[in-house]
Amino acid sequence: MSAHVLTLNAGSSSLKFGLFAAREDVLVVATGLLERIGESPRLKAEGANGMVFERHLSPEAAADHASALQTVLGLLKSEFPDDDISAVGHRVVHGGPNYSHPVAITRNLLTELERFEPFAPLHQPHNLAGVRSALQAFPDAVQVACFDTAFHRQHPFVNDVFALPREYYDRGVRRYGFHGLSYEYVSGELSRIAPHLHSGRVVIAHLGNGASMCGLLDGLPMGTRCGQLDPGVLLYLMDQEGMDAAAISDLLYKRSGLLGLSGISNDMRTLEAATTSEAEDAIAYFVFRIRRELGALAAVLGGLDALVFCGGIGENSHLIRERVCEGMGWIGIELDRIHNEENATVISTDLSRARVMVIPTDEEVVIARAALDLMVGVERRAAE
Ligand code: AMP
Repeated sequence: MSAHVLTLNAGSSSLKFGLFAAREDVLVVATGLLERIGESPRLKAEGANGMVFERHLSPEAAADHASALQTVLGLLKSEFPDDDISAVGHRVVHGGPNYSHPVAITRNLLTELERFEPFAPLHQPHNLAGVRSALQAFPDAVQVACFDTAFHRQHPFVNDVFALPREYYDRGVRRYGFHGLSYEYVSGELSRIAPHLHSGRVVIAHLGNGASMCGLLDGLPMGTRCGQLDPGVLLYLMDQEGMDAAAISDLLYKRSGLLGLSGISNDMRTLEAATTSEAEDAIAYFVFRIRRELGALAAVLGGLDALVFCGGIGENSHLIRERVCEGMGWIGIELDRIHNEENATVISTDLSRARVMVIPTDEEVVIARAALDLMVGVERRAAE
């Protein structure tokens, strides 16, 4: 038996997982996704050994997160029978105002993290459901929570605060910042690939189904979420449309963003292929907001040395990258059209003052490394 780390990233109806061999660093063994939990589940997995698995499952095989985890574990056990899981790393979206690092999971921590569910209702309850299932499945393994908010905790007050009465800040109503695991991975990769840029004025744009840019964080529209909104709109929805909190959260979280504007889809590939003016409007608004945030971030940073794209859209859509960078010569951006179309690592020209890059993100590796670190720490203390 050899020591392995399992990573779990539980969404509302999905469970993303990774199995890593624990050496000095983590080595990927397999990654996969179980989608449509509670409906018509489908499991996809790929192994570094060439294993490819893709199958529709019976509804009972993934009726909830606990049975989904058992199904995933069944697959891993049959494909990799000698791999002993010694540590489990969990993506937990919200770590609240205090956690700036991954932490070992205890019953008390779980209770504390439940308090943040209202601040991340789309993710936190599902993340914690994954944690509970894994605690049952692996009572003896080291279990580690890795927070999307942790990366941003060193920000100064002005980055965190809304201009509400101070007591709300003290009660936790703050701008926390998300996608921290992705930013951690990408900034680590940037320091490896281009160390001179890493300490410079860098903007990272994570453009996926969820979207944010490191620094301003909450302005961008996403797949089905609206991004920044005038608070007057909320008052209108309550007063004039008689909507309660549940109806408003359904509207803002599930029916807005690219889906709401286009009326067709939250998937950028579908929108790029569509010919309707609504699809074009949705793309235009998405691009407009990214350009606005980029300009704002460059002002805050005092200029721009590098812009890094990541996430499903940032890594794959040369069209979006081209539209974001068009006419951005004023902050030193000059795109190389061919490199951009090839999704190359560096997509700016040699003469471009700011370097523009594409760095595929890997949140699972960040989680696995954190779990490995804690596991090694626990073993070291046990040996002392
Ligand atoms: P993520 O949440 O990072 O997995 O990103 C998912 C999103 O990336 C999808 O909803 C698509 O809109 C987008 N995406 C993936 N591949 C492409 C592509 N080749 N062109 C445009 N958008 C893409």
